[in-house]
Amino acid sequence: MTTLLEMRGLHAGYAGAAVVRDLDLHVEAGEVVALLGPNGAGKTTTLLTVSGILPAIEGSITVLGASPEPGRPHRAARRGLAHVPEDRSLFFGLTTAENLRLGRSGKGALPVETVLEYFPALEGLLDRPAGLLSGGEQQMLALGRALAAAPRLLMVDEMSLGLAPVIVERLLPVLRRIADETGAGVLLVEQHVHLALGIADRAYVLSHGRLALEGPASELAERKDLLELSYLGEVATI
Ligand code: ATP
Repeated sequence: MTTLLEMRGLHAGYAGAAVVRDLDLHVEAGEVVALLGPNGAGKTTTLLTVSGILPAIEGSITVLGASPEPGRPHRAARRGLAHVPEDRSLFFGLTTAENLRLGRSGKGALPVETVLEYFPALEGLLDRPAGLLSGGEQQMLALGRALAAAPRLLMVDEMSLGLAPVIVERLLPVLRRIADETGAGVLLVEQHVHLALGIADRAYVLSHGRLALEGPASELAERKDLLELSYLGEVATI
């Protein structure tokens, strides 16, 4: 197994105040790992720290063989990290094709045709400005743009934000396929717990910035009581 991401004792937050505390987490090549928990639990903060957008306050992170360099997320991107943020960060004035081309800037980028095999619905939208796509289409484009860079580790934050569950049900298996077929590791922040557990290998549940639960997705899926409690942020012991 190749470890793509490993954090130990991570404290992360803003202006030196930790909102994530003592987090140990790892992602292996070809794995889909879900990061779950209620609003404000610290999921986005964790991803931003892995990317190097936020500095770690304490603890260690190794992402694709090196520590994140705060303020220099492009360094991790060059090593093969792709981060699809909550807001999707598309260029609304550029077309679908142009957005995809921007994702292909690194070495070893995937041909657009390969990206379209994962997201065939984008094929008929290549000339349309991203700002005129539906929410689901925009999310496909954001994922497709990330995939175009042939990432070794793909982090996806709240893919389902603003999307109908039926769209989420269609998109999540594509992440599974990406992990299976390209060997990339996927770290997924998701509110639809059971949909996420349905495609993930393992999951971590944060509550108030601390790890409340972790384990194989199939086992966590059966512990509905704990997951629900965890979603209210009230799990103190396992
Ligand atoms: P959600 O599901 O709502 O996105 P989350 O688990 O991703 O939640 P974070 O966005 O990581 O949670 O937020 C964790 C905590 O950090 C929250 O209490 C939030 O208010 C706080 N926080 C987020 N951004 C900032 C910021 N820029 N400055 C200070 N505190 C922040």
